[in-house]
Amino acid sequence: MKTACILCSQNCGIEVDLEGRHLVRIRGDRAQPASQGYLCEKAQRLDTYQNARDRLTSPLRRRADGTFEAIDWDTAIHEVAQRLSAIRDEHGGDRIFYYGGGGQGNHLGGAYGRATRAALGSTYTSNALAQEKTGEFWVDGQLFGRPRCHTSGDFEHAEVAVFVGKNPWQSHGFSRARVILKELAKDPARALIVIDPRRTETAELADFHLQVRPGTDAFCLSALGAVLVQEDLVAHRFIGEHTSDFATVSAALAAIPVADYCARAGLSEELVRTVARRIAAASSVATFEDLGVQQAPHSTLNSYLEKLLYLLTGNFAKRGAMNIHTRVAGLGGGGGGGRKTPVGGHRIITGLIPASVIPEEILTDHPARFRAMIVESANPAHSLPDSQRMRQALAALECLVVIDVAMSETAQLAHYVLPASSQFEKWEATFFNLEFPRNYFQLRAPILPPLEGTLPEPEIHRRLVRALGAIRDEELAELHQAAARIPTEGRGAYAAEFFRLTAEKPHLMPLAPIVLYETLGPALPAGAAQAAALWGAAHICAMTFPDSVQRAGFAGFGPELGEQLFEAMLTRRSGIVFTVDDYEETWQRLDTSDKKIRLAIPELLAELSRLPSEDPGARDPQFPLVLSAGERRSTTANTVLRDPAWRRQDLTGALRMSPADAERLGLADGGSARVTTRRGSAVATIEITDTLQAGHISLPNGLGTSYPGESGPAASPGIAPNELTALEDRDWLAGTPWHKYVPARVERM
Ligand code: SF4
Repeated sequence: MKTACILCSQNCGIEVDLEGRHLVRIRGDRAQPASQGYLCEKAQRLDTYQNARDRLTSPLRRRADGTFEAIDWDTAIHEVAQRLSAIRDEHGGDRIFYYGGGGQGNHLGGAYGRATRAALGSTYTSNALAQEKTGEFWVDGQLFGRPRCHTSGDFEHAEVAVFVGKNPWQSHGFSRARVILKELAKDPARALIVIDPRRTETAELADFHLQVRPGTDAFCLSALGAVLVQEDLVAHRFIGEHTSDFATVSAALAAIPVADYCARAGLSEELVRTVARRIAAASSVATFEDLGVQQAPHSTLNSYLEKLLYLLTGNFAKRGAMNIHTRVAGLGGGGGGGRKTPVGGHRIITGLIPASVIPEEILTDHPARFRAMIVESANPAHSLPDSQRMRQALAALECLVVIDVAMSETAQLAHYVLPASSQFEKWEATFFNLEFPRNYFQLRAPILPPLEGTLPEPEIHRRLVRALGAIRDEELAELHQAAARIPTEGRGAYAAEFFRLTAEKPHLMPLAPIVLYETLGPALPAGAAQAAALWGAAHICAMTFPDSVQRAGFAGFGPELGEQLFEAMLTRRSGIVFTVDDYEETWQRLDTSDKKIRLAIPELLAELSRLPSEDPGARDPQFPLVLSAGERRSTTANTVLRDPAWRRQDLTGALRMSPADAERLGLADGGSARVTTRRGSAVATIEITDTLQAGHISLPNGLGTSYPGESGPAASPGIAPNELTALEDRDWLAGTPWHKYVPARVERM
């Protein structure tokens, strides 16, 4: 049976053999157009997600003593609607904050959740992107006109690939990552460049590894940009034709003392100059920045400097370089332009409240504080910075509703827990469609019926919207009639009726996912009602990118093109190529008025000018080490894998450190030590490795989740990284936390 791995954003296609409700054999689906049969080792462990002991099988209500009681669905939906609408009526719908909405392939719930939010008048949202990517999105917006002008690296064709704080060998991020990395590494005409304080698996393959000191990425990246300008290696023709404000940026980079910045970053100046020259000489360069710099000091500035590398060398809108990709739906929360958080006045980027300020927006007597939260397919009590403070904030809410498959750390704090069906028990899709020139989409059919007691998220939201009284039966009568005629007349008449109805009753438009689910859903083949919201997404995609959709093999214009695309989504179980782009298409997607890239970003050039006053080597004597909290390893995954049995090695997630630090502290491989930060302390097993430089230590992601014993109490093997991180350590602009730069000390036990 065809479905997809759900352990990272790649969602590689898989074929699964079942025994009862167990996923017993898993192999790559060669017909999936993106992954083409590729898998990493983690997909083999998916049964531990599907059959975890902490799967929820009944709605739960918290008693006054903190324990939970099982309640039936009708009671749960009625009480949740009543509690949330009471808060809306007394304080306003904006006091209800929505967090999550999916991740790693579990996205349809987020689409239907929009209707529940609309029914409640709740407009503030956030998700995991607000602790990773919002700084990069903001930079995209400044350079290219809008944050949705997100770029994608064409690594398959790039002569030079640059990975900045990114280890695709473990974290992937593009299709068939290990295959492409090996191709890059073995071809003497191409070059692989890695900027990372650790000697990662990708760095081991690299032609050039700029092993920066932790937290000095901005010095390294600005030194590279400075070499390009000072040695006149920039692409003058490209810059003249396609950009504005070059003189301002050039002046800023010309003033940078390259030798000094290289020294501060712990790098050889000669190596930095060689790398800059290699980038400038290449016929094509693709880059990828990730959490290593996005969760470190100067994170938004790092994004800007990384993008200047490819823009100053003209590696944009061409094969092997950076291009603006298509999408089936946007990733952010939508809107947010100029909006600030209601209590702290923090910048909201792509509609998402910064993860690090959420407690501040709750733990206050400010009248605009959040009083209730809906958390869907997310675990902020574990995944967001400073878990202690996050738990306090969640516990202070008047109502916390969690929709999830398992009893997560956040669910344990909820007033109501609504059990969702697993990703293999419902229709689901990935919206991480970030590739160029071919972009991919896969709608997955369920391979198992829902576990008893659970509901797919579309049905949970339908019941909530109905209980909130947002839709009346009689409003949909004519649309139901139009849907009944679909088998004989096709979807054309239905579409006309849908648009007539929503024009006449505009309050139904924000509720469209549920309107579609109730009316179009039953008319879809193979019981695919949960995919009804995709009908709108397919039409919007076809309207936004008609040439690209046609190039992908879909015929027709306007609504006909959208229908063809939707039909292919519904029926092709291995997924589809939904757009094929010409490289020139990227220019059409720029959203600046003159279609030029605006190179100067005043806020970040001001930050760049302040770098000389910084001493990146300075350390608090109490915390002389830098902890990278949340390293991606072959033995770690996101926390949807809660059963620790999925890991065969590194069971407790070792604290890695350099031989020099281990010797200085008197620690042996396999021994125990206490790691302490300004926020917390934990005991870890030590692993000594020369992949880390002295002064740098690392803990993996995904550990420290509680999991019930087979017959005894729950255990939490490993360290939950956010017990050690602090809310205050964050980017000044985007609020992204510095998980990769946590001041720490280690002591022998
Ligand atoms: S973890 Fe990611 S790369 Fe590995 S098989 Fe799953 S989706 Fe593919």
